[in-house]
Order: sequence, then structure tokens, then C-alpha cells
Amino acid sequence: MMECDVLIVGGGPAGLSVAQALPSGVSSIVVHQDREIGLPVRTSGGTWQRDMQALGVPEHLYHIIDKIQFLSDHAEVERDLSDWKMAVLDVTGLYKWIGAQAQENGAQILTGTKFLTAEHCTGGQICTARSRDGQTFEIKSKYLVDASGVQHAVLTALGLRPKPTRIGVGIEYDYHVPQGVSNTAVLLMGKHMLGGYGWIFPGPNNTLRVGVGVIQPDVDTSPKALITDLITPEFEARHGLQLGSPFRKNAGLIPSAPYDPKLVFGKIIRTGDSANFATPTVGEGIRQAIEFGRLLGHALGKSIAEGQNAPLKAYERAARRRFARDYRFGFLSNRRMATYTPSDWDRSVARVTRLSEHEMAALLRSEFAPGMLVRTLAKQVAYKIRRSITS
Ligand SMILES: Cc1cc2nc3c(=O)[nH]c(=O)nc-3n(C[C@H](O)[C@H](O)[C@H](O)COP(=O)(O)OP(=O)(O)OC[C@H]3O[C@@H](n4cnc5c(N)ncnc54)[C@H](O)[C@@H]3O)c2cc1C
Repeated sequence: MMECDVLIVGGGPAGLSVAQALPSGVSSIVVHQDREIGLPVRTSGGTWQRDMQALGVPEHLYHIIDKIQFLSDHAEVERDLSDWKMAVLDVTGLYKWIGAQAQENGAQILTGTKFLTAEHCTGGQICTARSRDGQTFEIKSKYLVDASGVQHAVLTALGLRPKPTRIGVGIEYDYHVPQGVSNTAVLLMGKHMLGGYGWIFPGPNNTLRVGVGVIQPDVDTSPKALITDLITPEFEARHGLQLGSPFRKNAGLIPSAPYDPKLVFGKIIRTGDSANFATPTVGEGIRQAIEFGRLLGHALGKSIAEGQNAPLKAYERAARRRFARDYRFGFLSNRRMATYTPSDWDRSVARVTRLSEHEMAALLRSEFAPGMLVRTLAKQVAYKIRRSITS
């Protein structure tokens, strides 16, 4: 039987960041069901330049975005980004970069290996996994991390939490754009995207990603049908694109559930999408997966050294402080947006003009500081009063 201090299920950004941050001397194994780290791509990789800088992600792994357009059926707003530039990631490159650091740190990464089940034993738990050739084998570990994303593989196997039933379902087409890409990201809302939204993200190395996502079961629309209807000659002409055939088609799932602050279940801990860290407003979760994955790696190191769970509880509290309040408001917006009509989207897009850059970024990031909420509300009220006086 294989043995390690920490077994991590899932080699996405969360699981790899845990392995990367464990102190040397703490042994770890990552089981990852895909054949390769970072492929297939299941995300669009939109994030923020400042977070990537703070996390030390090398610049060649992202493309900087300094303009954002919001488009609905009858409203269009374009905003410059100066303090809050966005970044579109080379997702495969980033995940491989974190994976390489984890391996340098001593982690053993077993690709093509699926976690199946786990049972408690003295001093930890024994997990059963299946390798690509169909062989099952066991791994004993002191701690077990669920970083399996939407699958919640460990939590469901041990009956700790069910797999989420309300989920964002996305599909994306990747294109090579030899003539070069712009620095403008586009978010698409309205009658063709009800219950979700679409995006055009120029990425690194002259690539462009067009995607759509919807929340199921709120709507039963197929994202495949939506993207097929979206990418037409008129769409290309409107956005100044000459797309040709995509070189890759991606699909992915993300939980769309209220934030649940319980992360530590004895020796089982969850992180990343398995802990619902992605923003409820736009479903952005990579930076949180890396930041809190690293925090968990450090906490696990301390817990193992001290022989007690207090550092893990500190990780749980740090996440609660960061997410619980903001995501409560974010989830309310998520539920409201899922019921928006085309004219609600037109009004919502028009409102973006009244926000400062900082407020707009905060909304996209699901950061609802009390002062900002009051200021935004006051602006809405002032706008409505002005409109009623002038009409
Ligand atoms: C369509 C779409 C678009 C998105 N766009 C953005 C975006 O623009 N920006 C952003 O920041 N975030 C975005 N997200 C969210 C982002 O992808 C996630 O928040 C992030 O990937 C979470 O990382 P993770 O490591 O927790 O989970 P994942 O990236 O899902 O990684 C978990 C890994 O675990 C593996 N796994 C699952 N079960 C098992 C098992 N039983 N055994 C072994 N391995 C297993 C999976 O194969 C998977 O690779 C998007 C998500 C989707 C679906």
C-alpha cells in the first residue's frame, strides 16, 4: 500500500497549490483523473492582473485586458480598465507551472488516476484509487484533501456533503488568431443568454476564447445550442473577428450554491470549487483556488508538525472571513440574475456606466464592502430622482 502524509484528490489549481505549499518533509500524493495536468481545459481563465502579480504568476502566462464591454440586446457599455486590469490566463500553462513547483517540492502526481472511495482507519484514512490501466490500489494518508472541484469526490464518498445540484454549465471554443488579439474582453447578456452569460476573451499567444454558460436546472437551455447559435458571420462582423474553425472545444461545470463555511471535517479538508470558493456573480475561482490552496498547504504543514487541527481551523476561519458575507450578497445577485428578462439585462448593462471602475471591479469580484453597497445604492436613488425630475 502507498502511504503519505497528505493525499490530495484533484490536480486542478486548488489541489496543486496545496501540494506546492506543503513544507518540505511533508509527503504528498496528488491523484488526478485526467491524463495530463491542465488538459482538457474546463475554464475560461479570466482573472485580474493584480491578483496574478500578488500570487507571483509569471507574466507570460496571461494576456492583459484593459477594456471591457458589456452587451445586451439594446444596451452597450465599454469601460477602460486602469487600476483593475483583467488578465486572461494560459490555463494549461498555469496549471503545469503550479504542478511543476509541487513536484519540485516533493509531491508525487499520479495522473490518469481516479479516486474512488475512502474509509477511516487508525491515524487517518485509506483511499482506493483506479489507475488508467484499470488497476485499483490503496493509499493510506494522515490527511485527505478534497480538491476535486464540482465532483466533491471525497465529500460524497464519505457522506460529508452531497455533490451540488445547481451548477453552472459552460462550453467554450478556442481559436488561433494569427492577425493578433485585442485587449478588450466582452461580456454578453440578453435574450440569447437567459439564465447565464457569454464571453469573448482574448488570450495569450494570439488565442481567443468564445464561451457561454448557463445555470442548470434554473434553465434547461443547452450551452452547446447557445454557442452554435451565437457564432455566426454577423457575430464575427460585429466584433471584428475572423474566427475560422476552433482548434479546441472545452466544457466545464462549476457549483452554483450558497457558500458553506464548513471546510474541515476532522482529517478531511476541502478547498477550491469543492469548497465553493468561486465568485457567485461570474463564477471566477482560479485565484481563490491558488491563494487558499496555498494557505491550506501551510496549515496542513503546521497541523502535522503540532499534531493538532488548530491551524486547519484557522484556514477555515480565514476563508469564512473572506467569502461568507460577500458571497451571501453575491449569491442573492446570482439568483436574481438567473431570472432576468432581456429588458432587465438592458437596464443592468446601462447601470454599469454609473459605477466607478473600482465599484465595477468589486461587483465582478463579488466584493460587497458595506461602504460600497451604500454608495452604489445612493447613486441608484440619485439617478432615479434625477430621471423622475427630468421626465
Ligand atoms: C465554463 C467555466 C468557465 C469558467 N471561467 C472562469 C474564469 O474565467 N476565471 C476563473 O477564475 N474561473 C473560472 N471558472 C471557475 C474555475 O475554473 C474554477 O473555480 C477552478 O478551476 C477551481 O479549481 P479547483 O482546483 O478547485 O477545481 P478544478 O479546476 O475543477 O480541478 C479539479 C480536478 O479534479 C479532478 N477530479 C475530479 N474528480 C476526481 C476524482 N474522483 N479523482 C481524481 N481526480 C478528480 C478533475 O478532473 C479536475 O481536473 C470557470 C468554470 C467553468 C466551468
